[in-house]
Amino acid sequence: MQMMIGDQFTESVSGERTRITNPADGTPAGEVPSGGEEDVRRAVEAASEAFVRWSESPTSHRGITLFRSAELIRREADRLALILTTEQGKPLREAKDEVLGAAAVFEYYAGSASLLTAGYSGKLPRYGYGMVQRRPLGVCAAIIPWNMSVLIAAWKIGAALVTGNTLVLKPSIQAPMAVLALGEVMQRSGLPPGVLNIVTGNGAEAGDPLIRHEDVRKISFTGSIETGRAIAGATAGTMKRLTLELGGNDPMIVCPDVDPVAAADAALALRLYNCGQICTSPKRLIVLDEIHDAFVSRLQQTIPEVVIGQGTDPASRIGPLNNEAGKTGVEEAILRLEGEGAVIYRGTLPAGLSQKGFFCPPALATGCTADSTVLSEEIFGPVIPVIRAEDLDEAIEIANSTRYGLGASIWTEQISTAERAAEALEAGIVWVNQHMKLPPEVPFGGVKGSGFGSENGLSFIEAYTMEKTILISR
Ligand code: NAD
Repeated sequence: MQMMIGDQFTESVSGERTRITNPADGTPAGEVPSGGEEDVRRAVEAASEAFVRWSESPTSHRGITLFRSAELIRREADRLALILTTEQGKPLREAKDEVLGAAAVFEYYAGSASLLTAGYSGKLPRYGYGMVQRRPLGVCAAIIPWNMSVLIAAWKIGAALVTGNTLVLKPSIQAPMAVLALGEVMQRSGLPPGVLNIVTGNGAEAGDPLIRHEDVRKISFTGSIETGRAIAGATAGTMKRLTLELGGNDPMIVCPDVDPVAAADAALALRLYNCGQICTSPKRLIVLDEIHDAFVSRLQQTIPEVVIGQGTDPASRIGPLNNEAGKTGVEEAILRLEGEGAVIYRGTLPAGLSQKGFFCPPALATGCTADSTVLSEEIFGPVIPVIRAEDLDEAIEIANSTRYGLGASIWTEQISTAERAAEALEAGIVWVNQHMKLPPEVPFGGVKGSGFGSENGLSFIEAYTMEKTILISR
């Protein structure tokens, strides 16, 4: 595949290409250009050229363009999903959910275009009158991870474009192809050249020059805390706007008044989605004493039944992890949990899976301690660590005891318990009797080490526009 810059699908200036590996069997999934500084420069130039016309086009026109893209994405969802599964590893069913989710995001932004037209004006005795315009920022940069590439790309594209900005997007080199295919679909649905540009390449060679480029006015980054910190450091003092959507270590608190079987089934389904590689996956299960044993016993019963296989096999409940380093990290975390005294129950790999695939059977870890060093960091894989808590106060204390603050959930039938936890949990989003749901209608962003700024909901207006005040004397 090729990069998307201005009106062209193109190779990198260096002519070098990077092979993308199918995580299910190690075979080549495709190739993309290895972009670098010169490619970033071309892409920012194309975005700058496109900005004037795009920012001055009626918001309804921008909304309609997104709406047409959504229509085409829905029509081509199977094709896009297959590309995503081949490079990322997730089951086709989940890949299709993600692609359709991206279409829903564009529909949301298409509909919200009308919100951008309203300015504010008022009579100001002694000063005349004033108006406040909402204006786009200019060229924005988006840098995204590999785990939910299409959905996260859609969050950033939808918000930046509907507000009249132009965008240079850099997907992860671990999963760039479905995002390129998404861009191509958008071009076919009438997006003018240069409004969206996609540069493929790694963080050091393509990401770093992009965030440093002086014509980039805003950076929206989703990825790890470590890279987020590096970007914040590199851009300090530049006055670029920054949104950082970083890692998560979400707690899921299970109270004694819920059905332990239903709660355990929900926890397993949530944690195994995308093979546990989701920022808002429930990564620490904090279960109150009275329900703990029944909850754990259900997980012990269901984990061996989990079918692991290629994402393209409809029987697979989970596919492989996306990459080898990820797999090594997860296996090490399981060993370290055991070293801390946890008891591990593992699922099994069926015979016949490729030895070159990054498959990782799910692991239940019981008896995890509240002060576990392993659980103070994000485990990006199908590990289900259970921590026993005496009461809600203790559960909340454990939940808040990490540097993360992305999502959190409380599972209870008692509204007073839900309210208490929702107030006390340190997170950008708190779910009650659900987890990991991120409809585009509500803002999403983290607190503490999980970053700052949010996208979706109405937050996108603040995030992607500036206010300009004009005061006229009389
Ligand atoms: P990562 O931080 O390694 O990479 C993310 C992106 O940053 C990639 O495109 C990479 O090429 C780029 N990058 C790396 N170094 C860079 C640099 N110096 N300058 C500019 N760009 C650079 O993260 P990952 O491994 O791709 O993704 C997994 C992480 O993302 C997990 O921590 C997960 O929790 C997090 N995540 C967060 C959210 C959220 O919305 N908060 C959503 C999904 C994933």
